Amino acid sequence: MTHDMVKDGLVVSMEYKLTVDGEVLDSSDEAGPLQFLTGYGNIIPGLENEMMGMKIGESKNVTVQPADGYGEFEEDAFTEVSRSQFPTDMKLEEGMELHVTDEDGNHQAAYVAEFDDKTVKLDFNHPLAGAVLDFYVKVVALREPTDEELDHGHVHEGDGHHH
Ligand code: ZN
Repeated sequence: MTHDMVKDGLVVSMEYKLTVDGEVLDSSDEAGPLQFLTGYGNIIPGLENEMMGMKIGESKNVTVQPADGYGEFEEDAFTEVSRSQFPTDMKLEEGMELHVTDEDGNHQAAYVAEFDDKTVKLDFNHPLAGAVLDFYVKVVALREPTDEELDHGHVHEGDGHHH
């Protein structure tokens, strides 16, 4: 079955460029087109929604507001934890990404905002929280996902890692 239009449950290959405040932060120029499975939250909702119905070869500029992107910047998304919660030989750096698990077992990314010998201040805002995202996207290919990809809810080919 061939597809010529983006819809739920397909693997989309796209060329893209992400610009924030006029600065290019990310693009497919180096790594090649990005593949993602629609309908599984693999990319931010504000972009995925706008890509629905796009045809192969079609390109578009999409501006995504923070609420549909990486969220608003939250002043209260900072938490202080004791330095003793981290391994003593772990070298901390400002801005470094950590993966933490809360009491409910949810995995979350946090960033080291600041630290000293006693306390580490963690920032749970995404680095692009509060940013208006300007995307250029072009649909270059569409295909059916494999059963395994559907089962996992993400693409296995060309994503650089396997599970
Ligand atoms: Zn997988």
